[in-house]
Amino acid sequence: MSITQNLKSLYKELPEDVKLVAVSKTKPGDDILEAYEAGQRIFGENKVQEMTAKHEALPKDIQWHMIGHLQSNKVKYIVPYVSLIHSVDRLKLFNEINRQANRFKKQVHVLLQVKIAEEDSKFGMPMVEATRFFEENLGDNYPHVTVVGLMGMATFTDDESQLKKEFNALKSLFDTFGESHDLKYLSMGMSGDYEVAISCGSNMVRVGSAIFGKRNYD
Ligand SMILES: *Cc1c(COP(=O)(O)O)cnc(C)c1O
Repeated sequence: MSITQNLKSLYKELPEDVKLVAVSKTKPGDDILEAYEAGQRIFGENKVQEMTAKHEALPKDIQWHMIGHLQSNKVKYIVPYVSLIHSVDRLKLFNEINRQANRFKKQVHVLLQVKIAEEDSKFGMPMVEATRFFEENLGDNYPHVTVVGLMGMATFTDDESQLKKEFNALKSLFDTFGESHDLKYLSMGMSGDYEVAISCGSNMVRVGSAIFGKRNYD
């Protein structure tokens, strides 16, 4: 199956209110252009340098989403153009994004990444801290950053009940604070689990290999 065919069948399959982030990490510009020609405009990357190079080389109406772990010292490279940062998981990062956003006269949209997986390897703010973040309105300390939703990565497993448990936990946080904090996006679901994620209320999926084919490395 080609990139175009994969995308077209995804467009047919996804509910209308679910946004598709095409995860193009490690893939060449030509693959991104093929997806672009098929109508895709939102692309996700996990490395600052790679995303910035692609932003510079590719059409300017592409919306770039940073989905990978972000180091504070690299924030300055993406703030000028990034459309959404999914992976904000600590206050130090809020602080730096706020500082750079102010410097570049931008309002930067972010998702709070929350740890929902049992696996230790996954990043994310612990659920109790995320709860406190909203209860105590800690976002108010960062006026140039707007939290527009939540992101979570589930455990890498085929166990549907485990996936549901993790996705439902994030949906529940989204429901608790969504209205009071004007949260719009619930980013959960990848190639292997986006159907389950959508059944649990996701409205933004990050799909890589099911569009572009498998990667040789991450
Ligand atoms: C790589 C990646 C994805 C996409 O993974 P696939 O399994 O290829 O769909 C989604 N989200 C994050 C945070 C990623 O790093």
